[in-house]
Amino acid sequence: MIDNETVENGANSHSDSDEEKEDIKEISNGGSKSADRKHNGNLENGFSGQRPVLRKSPSFMEASQNFVVHSRGGNDRKVLVIYTGGTIGMVKNKNGVLAPQRSIFETLIRTYPQLHSNSLWRMKVSEPGFEPSFFVLPETKDCEACTILYKIIEYDKLIDSSNVTEKEWEKIAIDIKKHYDLFDGFVVLHGTDTLAYTASALSFIFENLGKPVVLTGSQIPIFEPRSDGADNFVSSLIIAGTLHIPEVTIFFGSKLFRGNRTSKISSNAFYAFESPNCDPIVDVGIDFEVNTRIIFKPTVIDRFNVSPKLSKNVGLLRIFPSISGAVIRAFCQPPIEGVVLESYGAGNIPSNRPDVYQEISAAVKRGVIFVNITQCNTGSVSPIYEAGQGLEKLGVVSGYDMTPEAALTKLSYVLAKSEISHEEKKNMMAMNIRGELTRTDVLALPQTHNPKDLQPLDTLAKCFNVELTPSLKDKVFCALLQYATEQNDENTLELLLEMGANVNCQNWEGKTVLHEAVLRGNIRMVECLLKKGANVHLKTKIGETPLLTAIQRNDIEMIQLLVKCGAHLASINTSALAELLLLAARSGSVRKLEALKIAGADLNICDELNHTPLHKAVICKSPKAVEYLVANGASKDAVDFLGNKPIDYAIKTNDPEIINQLR
Ligand code: ASP
Repeated sequence: MIDNETVENGANSHSDSDEEKEDIKEISNGGSKSADRKHNGNLENGFSGQRPVLRKSPSFMEASQNFVVHSRGGNDRKVLVIYTGGTIGMVKNKNGVLAPQRSIFETLIRTYPQLHSNSLWRMKVSEPGFEPSFFVLPETKDCEACTILYKIIEYDKLIDSSNVTEKEWEKIAIDIKKHYDLFDGFVVLHGTDTLAYTASALSFIFENLGKPVVLTGSQIPIFEPRSDGADNFVSSLIIAGTLHIPEVTIFFGSKLFRGNRTSKISSNAFYAFESPNCDPIVDVGIDFEVNTRIIFKPTVIDRFNVSPKLSKNVGLLRIFPSISGAVIRAFCQPPIEGVVLESYGAGNIPSNRPDVYQEISAAVKRGVIFVNITQCNTGSVSPIYEAGQGLEKLGVVSGYDMTPEAALTKLSYVLAKSEISHEEKKNMMAMNIRGELTRTDVLALPQTHNPKDLQPLDTLAKCFNVELTPSLKDKVFCALLQYATEQNDENTLELLLEMGANVNCQNWEGKTVLHEAVLRGNIRMVECLLKKGANVHLKTKIGETPLLTAIQRNDIEMIQLLVKCGAHLASINTSALAELLLLAARSGSVRKLEALKIAGADLNICDELNHTPLHKAVICKSPKAVEYLVANGASKDAVDFLGNKPIDYAIKTNDPEIINQLR
């Protein structure tokens, strides 16, 4: 940990040189050095606007703005679009009926000015590292100072979603995993018929999801004049690229819903989806109104994982007045392992039907897991009636207010977990694991504040004669969180979070409290923030992640913690990363090399002259850097543009120590 004094003065106990710091700032901007360097004189002593720099140099804001303007790619947000089929991309075939057709979608999207800006694309093409296959979303006021670039993967077999099975869920999940590090968010274009099932299944398959996955589709194909497709698509891109909602969600008809809370409610309305037991996360009107308080966040220190194994031996059994014991018996025959029971009202089945009870009881005894949910659209299962309590006694698990889609896919996911016992599976079904159910009987957090604690905010608002709108409240909370972090005051921080402050709020520079705690080197606070849902992927307006902040400080322990929680360097472009490594090698900074390696950098990366860090360390006569690089897998045989290996330079400069190290 470093003391306030050190930080306030802009000095940094871990840092090797000012030159390195400057380089990281440029890296987070996408790695352009060139002329930008002269705009950044004021930044040399600090890092992307930390307070000390503000005090030292009144022109920091100006410099920082120039920096953003001149940045290349630092504030781009990349979204991967997976196009699976569905009405959204369908066109009429030769028989005059709608069907998905291959290789048409991308070509047509390029011609729609509201979906792709050709002029921005042409500007981007001239930037190093830009992949021309990307589309560029036209500028909109909703993406504050950032550009959304998106790439479309079209599946070989485009399908009507009625044909979706667990194989498609697995494919989507694996594709997202494959591209996870390289993109800020994901949009899945999908038919509406089984959209809620896919969203629910993905929400369970994805463990510790840290980035947005938005599923959308449309009722009318996107290329038809009255389509809802363009609105749904553009809003989904903006949400996936700029709003930090690390959940599997469904965007439809101007609302973003939690995927595992949503059902299709209309086959023809534009408002085709609803999440009856959970408020929408975003309401899109003129602005994007985000309900940050209900965003579900992972609260364990672990990286993103895909667990696609699902049991197929599950089914939905809807109770109806004349259902027979024989039907239930037939339904529960092997290989069935899990049944979602759709009961009446608050979870009731007929209490005067011993045959029904007997069959359910027999199946439970054979090891079939029964989960009880209600047939009603809203409300939850709760054992308030005699008719419902009986089920609990038989060992049927309460599914609370889960949708049928969520209950079924969760059961598939839980049953496939071979590492946990039957009892643990039953417990898991009744637990809220991805925001899919509401339990009023267990409080998520012990509440240590009382509602009066909010009064100071109201008083403050009155003093300034302003209305305490939700957005103002969020801003005040954000400032207080930053202040508590600057003061290393964990108690106040926890209290503010309990009071509803958003742990991932960003200040005017885009800095989160996680950035601040990392900058302060306060590992305990960082741990506490991660367990409260702080997101390691959020970037400042100049593209700096908490991991880059930790690298700037050469804070190895911090880097290890962030990496354990899934932080990575993949969004930094290769040439920028190469520059950073080569600089560390040139200046002989073993600690910086180590910091970069632990953060995941490849020590054999090279610049445009094919110089590796080892070449640079040799040329600049840094035996310590040479030793570190050789011990950590740097190739002694790498050849630069002149055909020289590192040892050739050691021989040229006649450096016996380094020659020895390289032999
Ligand atoms: N049948 C179509 C599908 O689910 C309906 C739609 O896309 O809205 O693929």
